[in-house]
Amino acid sequence: MPITSINPATQETLKTFEALTEEQLDEKLSRAREAFFAYRRTRFNERASMMQNAAEILESEKKDFARLMTLEMGKPINSAVQEAEKCALVCRYYAENAERHLADEVVETNATKSFVRFQPLGAVLAVMPWNFPFWQVFRFAAPALMAGNVGLLKHASNVPQCALAIEEIFHRAGFPEGAFQTLLVGSEVVASLLEDERVAAATLTGSEPAGRSVASIAGKQIKKTVLELGGSDPFIVMPSADFEAAVTTAVKARTINNGQSCIAAKRFIVHEKIYDEFEKRFVEVMKALRVGDPLQASTDIGPLATDQILKDLEEQVKVSVAAGAKLLTGGGRCELEGELARGNFYEPTVLADIPKEAPAYADEIFGPVASLFRVANIDEAIELANATTFGLGAAAWTNDAAERDRFISEIEAGSVFINGMVASDPRLPFGGVKNSGYGRELSYFGIREFVNIKTVWVHRLT
Ligand code: NAP
Repeated sequence: MPITSINPATQETLKTFEALTEEQLDEKLSRAREAFFAYRRTRFNERASMMQNAAEILESEKKDFARLMTLEMGKPINSAVQEAEKCALVCRYYAENAERHLADEVVETNATKSFVRFQPLGAVLAVMPWNFPFWQVFRFAAPALMAGNVGLLKHASNVPQCALAIEEIFHRAGFPEGAFQTLLVGSEVVASLLEDERVAAATLTGSEPAGRSVASIAGKQIKKTVLELGGSDPFIVMPSADFEAAVTTAVKARTINNGQSCIAAKRFIVHEKIYDEFEKRFVEVMKALRVGDPLQASTDIGPLATDQILKDLEEQVKVSVAAGAKLLTGGGRCELEGELARGNFYEPTVLADIPKEAPAYADEIFGPVASLFRVANIDEAIELANATTFGLGAAAWTNDAAERDRFISEIEAGSVFINGMVASDPRLPFGGVKNSGYGRELSYFGIREFVNIKTVWVHRLT
């Protein structure tokens, strides 16, 4: 099946690619294996210099890469530029730190010398989503390549141009042929890739069903996986919080990337003492957002990335309202003019009084739709925050030290941010618990996911 790049703001077909044939795929897998045998012997300083080159390319051509991202998946252009910059940052972070992260660790035992050595595994398959089409890939690729692995990218089918641009960046940065390859294939091919002996391990960032499938197939093959899946992150606001900062950050945290972020705040849990005022201000700020052409710097919210995402979102809101949720603003497609008339635009939407059975109560909602909840105290806030099958990130706003400590220890999530919004940072580990996945990306935890943690025990070697 061809792989098509469509501009979600206009529905214009930008480019169509033929998926790889079986023979082409086989050739790429063999190339990855051969590349690994040579590449794993390169020194850290050689890898670091190539990774620094990749950072330079990303930085100097960030506007071109940003335009590509915006055209293929609709993110506002300013955030696309920031995404390219963040990719440069993660390349630099691992170029500078990988050697230290993976240095031998000496452990005193009864041996003359015993230590732990971290060695690469081989070709790692990365199944990646479209929502941060550069960042998701670079946060996998920078540590994987610095550790001496080689990368195989199966990107989401709606961002083939981004996928090819990333391959090109690593090529131009000087990485040897086969060290990082893009595989233009559909998701139906992933199972056979996981079963192929030339693939050593896999990482998937994407939805829960995709994660379950990849984990079970890889599990049968006894291959290591890392899963970064969905989320329904809570954003809790207590009476002692800086109110205005909480409101503006809440709106930003919900609508970042047109509302299509795994760590977007999705459920706003507000103490009853400030709930009414919060609801009023939150709705005002949501209503003031400018929906429109993502290539314009003044646009806050662009189109949803595909028709299907728009349809799913419409359905989730419709079912939630039918179940009794109150619609405070939005609730439908945005009618724009000119060539944007056919784009996947959806109004910034706020729902309140949401019953438990409604999708907006705890499911992942991928779009600019916020769910508001009123709670009487911190116990209720924590209980509601944890009342989801997901556990990716959480934000809590309070200036009370005892409340802060309870949020940190009692919220079931891979990260808790106090008085801020959840965001990834190369220096901090990133990942989830529960159905949000397992394993960690970024920091030294991330680079140690795809290595053989080899124990070495040497006695009386003279
Ligand atoms: P998706 O439909 O699961 O797709 C993600 C990737 O998985 C794509 O490359 C897709 O390929 C592939 N895929 C889909 N079904 C598969 C299957 N059964 N077996 C193997 N591969 C499969 O997710 P998405 O719509 O692109 O992304 C949105 C989801 O990603 C949300 O749930 C979001 O929360 C999550 N996400 C999580 C994180 C995180 O760090 N935790 C970050 C970003 C996004 P095709 O495109 O060819 O179908």
